[in-house]
Amino acid sequence: MALKTGDQYLASLDSLNISAHILGRKTERPGEHGLVAPSRQAVAFTFDAAHAPESKDLFRVVSPLCQEEVNRFTHLHQSQADLVNKIKMQRHCGAMTGCCFQRCVGMDAANAVYSTTFDCDQRHGTSYHSRFRDYWAWVQREDLVVDGAMTDPKGDRGKRPKDQLDPDLFLRVKERRAGGVVISGAKLHQTGMLNSHEILVMPTMAMREGEQAWAICCAVPVDSLGVRYIYGRQTSDTRKLEADRLDVGNPVYGGQEVMTVFEDVFVPNERIFLDGEVDFSGSLVERFASYHRQSYGGCKVGVGDVLIGATALIAAMNGVAKAGHIREKLIEMNHLNETLFACGLACSYQGQATPAGNYLVDLLLANVCKLNVTRLPYEIARLATDVAGGLLGTLPSAADLNDPETRPYLLKYLAANPGHQVVDRMKVLRLIENLTAGAGAVGYLIESMHGAGPPAAQRIMIERQANMEAKMGAVKSLLSIA
Ligand code: SF4
Ligand code: FE
Repeated sequence: MALKTGDQYLASLDSLNISAHILGRKTERPGEHGLVAPSRQAVAFTFDAAHAPESKDLFRVVSPLCQEEVNRFTHLHQSQADLVNKIKMQRHCGAMTGCCFQRCVGMDAANAVYSTTFDCDQRHGTSYHSRFRDYWAWVQREDLVVDGAMTDPKGDRGKRPKDQLDPDLFLRVKERRAGGVVISGAKLHQTGMLNSHEILVMPTMAMREGEQAWAICCAVPVDSLGVRYIYGRQTSDTRKLEADRLDVGNPVYGGQEVMTVFEDVFVPNERIFLDGEVDFSGSLVERFASYHRQSYGGCKVGVGDVLIGATALIAAMNGVAKAGHIREKLIEMNHLNETLFACGLACSYQGQATPAGNYLVDLLLANVCKLNVTRLPYEIARLATDVAGGLLGTLPSAADLNDPETRPYLLKYLAANPGHQVVDRMKVLRLIENLTAGAGAVGYLIESMHGAGPPAAQRIMIERQANMEAKMGAVKSLLSIA
């Protein structure tokens, strides 16, 4: 059943039998927990957008794999236009939810696994690609959310997987049984894990000879025996548990990250897509990371739209919208945000077909995109903080606004531009706080730094892709140097 609605998606999540550890308690129906509920709504938005008149053409695409119309979040990109539309779709979701909507990791993982399994089969005569095609056609038809799980804990960063005191610090094949393998380990920082139906496990880095056990790519249902979820904290997260939504900042939507532990989880052969192929673990990581580095040129730009809009609103509410330095700062914020969008578009327009047939982003430009994402949202957030004013860090609570004793004082002393209500000014300040220093800053700032790899990882890729030989050759030719 392709193209679920948001409600159908939420019902499908509720039919799964999973529990999670949240703030020190085992929680049997985690989707109902106040910390989790906003993140579910954000993913549900990606389903509803495929039905909304204003966005459905962007979100729907006919998949050559399953021959049906599918949600673009499950699509294998067939052209540069598909890569561009992916970025536009992500900007739309970011702008409408103001947070990480969590569904991109599965799309990015699938596109990387699709082409890597093809290449592996070509070289080694294996049959991973057809397995993956069957698996992904099912994902598309069912319109599932798949969490691409790459980041291992990695233990002592100076040691290889086999040299760690605990071999589980890199997820590995622990045992081989008839019909499959048993995996053991963990994946950290898993975006949207509790809002997913499936986990697509990938190796965390290029493995070497002798590290075959750690070169595993496979799919696991989220409710598999032996999978344990420990919910990640976010700044000010317990505000989400408060009845009054004002202090949450983003009253409807939110992100989600989960530590995910695999304790002797059995994976049948038909769900294994690379097993011991050390020579392909590196290209799988590189491709997944590059797709996800492209993604940030869409989603973070959409969230940037929200922060810029909130900054312009608070300037108007404060009565300073016409001040020259405020207008300059808003111009600068837009300039920075559109620079990120330009990077996301550029690496998409320069994408190329892989031998498997799906399209891969331009690796150099995708890494340039992400390296800018590690910087520019911080500057946008700095400017938002500047324009919003110190009240951003000192505003009394919603409870004080609701308390009859203090309410008159808040209404009297927080009044600014008379064209705006005090409560609205508080809402906008809380949203800016959410994105610059609260729960939303996990997605907008910390993830911008470390998601899809930290800046050093992008620098390595830029060095590799920059083709310095050609540049030096051009100079030699210009100067007639032999
Ligand atoms: Fe998607 Fe962005 Fe969230 Fe990654 S950070 S899952 S690209 S919204
Ligand atoms: Fe991410």
